[in-house]
Amino acid sequence: MIPERRTRTIRIGPLSIGGGSPIAVQSMAATRTQDLDATMGQIERIHAAGADLIRVAVDSPKDAEALAEIARRMDAKGIDVPLSVDLQENYRMAAIVAPFVQKLRYNPGHLHHHEKDKSIAEKVQWIVETAREHDCAIRIGVNAGSVAPEYKERFPDDHVQAIVQCAVDHCELLDGHQFLDYVVSIKDSDPRLVIDANTRFSEARPDVPIHLGVTEAGMPPEGIIKTRIAFEQLLSRGIGDTLRVSLTVPFDNKGEEISVGRQILDDVENGRFRSVPPNFFDGLNIIACPSCSRVENEKFIDLAEDVKKMTEFAAEYDLTIAVMGCRVNGPGETDDADLGLWCGPKTVNLKKGEELVGNFGYDTILDALRKELDVLIAARA
Ligand code: SF4
Repeated sequence: MIPERRTRTIRIGPLSIGGGSPIAVQSMAATRTQDLDATMGQIERIHAAGADLIRVAVDSPKDAEALAEIARRMDAKGIDVPLSVDLQENYRMAAIVAPFVQKLRYNPGHLHHHEKDKSIAEKVQWIVETAREHDCAIRIGVNAGSVAPEYKERFPDDHVQAIVQCAVDHCELLDGHQFLDYVVSIKDSDPRLVIDANTRFSEARPDVPIHLGVTEAGMPPEGIIKTRIAFEQLLSRGIGDTLRVSLTVPFDNKGEEISVGRQILDDVENGRFRSVPPNFFDGLNIIACPSCSRVENEKFIDLAEDVKKMTEFAAEYDLTIAVMGCRVNGPGETDDADLGLWCGPKTVNLKKGEELVGNFGYDTILDALRKELDVLIAARA
């Protein structure tokens, strides 16, 4: 049921992606990179679950040092799966981490944060030169929650076209440097937007391998269903060369992202599609990030679970609650939610739309959330 894919084949260390290569399944460490034992635990679990590629995020020189040690430990344990690194906002970290990984991921929406005197094209050129020097592939990772400002201005009324055009333009930047070992991802927490954006991108650039994902899909089973909705539609149109299922699960269960990814792939390959009722997108929608090296407090996973339980009573209301693990992406990625929580080390920030309601302890945030939720529900009644 998966038609022949027309993308070119690229190389990520020993792994081939795109064209006739098997669709690769990948996952990402959810723990703080500097917590070496915890992050190695994640890598071992993800590897044991059968990952083709593992991603780790770096934010600081200390993270980069930890990554070097992680690469050394992986080598010592015979874990030969390629490593990909998320550059987050500090793209300059690429030079320090590239010697230890096979792939660099940058987010075009984060390139404007540092070195404001340099153009985006200059920054991309520098990333390309770094990748080339260290034989790394690149992922252009566009995220609907962090759209580059220029594209927001150019496409104020078409959010999907803003992110698609951003991806297409960055492909052209890489092509201009004759750098072809790259994939593109365009993610959002809404599977319908993921289907639309990836279909449009694949029409614009049928040659470029695509990494599929529904970001902040949240906890199982809803997180799995949202992901399945997007993957079934895209894979069955021949779109998607590698995929990640992003789930908010306890750190010990991170291998689930791989097993679920393989199951969806197997189902689509064998024509087993699951439909959802027409009202699937009605009612309360909880989105939650899968956690990564930036997570500020491990209590985040429990908090996401508690929010889900506490809000069961509001299942019929068309409201979105976002639960995010850190201060870097948390504030922006909760802007579109009716109520948003983003975690700090000791406290949790509660937002109503873009407005900050307050800052609460991990033990009081649920009460504060309940209060705001009751107000919203009363207003609708
Ligand atoms: S919101 Fe923060 S902790 Fe969660 S995945 Fe994104 S960067 Fe990582």
